Amino acid sequence: MIKLDRTPKPAELTTELQVALTDEFKITGKSVWNIDFIKKSLLSLSNDKCCYCEANINEESKYLEVEHFHHKGKYKDEVLEWNNLLPSCKKCNGTKNDHDTKLEPIIDPSIIEPKKHLKYWRYRIKGTDDFGKLTVSVLNLNDQDRLVKKRYEIGNAIQIKLEQLNEITDDFINGIQTSTRRKNRIINGTKDLMKEGLPNSIYSATTATIILTDIEFKTLKEKLVLLKFWDEELSQLETDLENTAFELYK
Ligand SMILES: [Zn+2]
Repeated sequence: MIKLDRTPKPAELTTELQVALTDEFKITGKSVWNIDFIKKSLLSLSNDKCCYCEANINEESKYLEVEHFHHKGKYKDEVLEWNNLLPSCKKCNGTKNDHDTKLEPIIDPSIIEPKKHLKYWRYRIKGTDDFGKLTVSVLNLNDQDRLVKKRYEIGNAIQIKLEQLNEITDDFINGIQTSTRRKNRIINGTKDLMKEGLPNSIYSATTATIILTDIEFKTLKEKLVLLKFWDEELSQLETDLENTAFELYK
């Protein structure tokens, strides 16, 4: 989960339309929020990801679910309140179900910085206070099959990539392979890997955390600095990853 910047309410969602559709929902119970412009605006709010688990919404559930942070069964007046709508995957939406976020608040990532209440340890998200712990539990953020395994797969893939980058960098340092092509492969390979931890990428918080805390990454960075390959873009990427990553739970 990462902090999302709430985009402005879509212009198409006029007060008149909002009132009319809210009334329609109260009478018919129809999913009046399933409108293309609402879905499109929600997708751009989160870069096509679930606001809670960061899965690609299209991949995980075929289609986006319009999530009502304050649930629609109880807070009927808010079913089309823009600030109450979030993009969620089917699993997170279903897991959260009718949890009452007013009586027992959890993190709304469009308002609260998740990192203030969540940390990371061994492919698991850990609440650092009661608010964070309730968030993890209500959203089942450590779902074994769906999320913990996925984080492990991401971690393993990062590890393999970092080992490869360290190997070809060692070859460069030892004079075995010193072509410009090889130099570019080292620099661009490192950049491509780091870009996977940027906020617009799926599972960015996990990816950024794993990269920055991996000993192979620290070693690689030292070598790139030594070779003067560590340029401004790499520095910027590191700063961006630091902003996305969780701190480790200790
Ligand atoms: Zn989700």
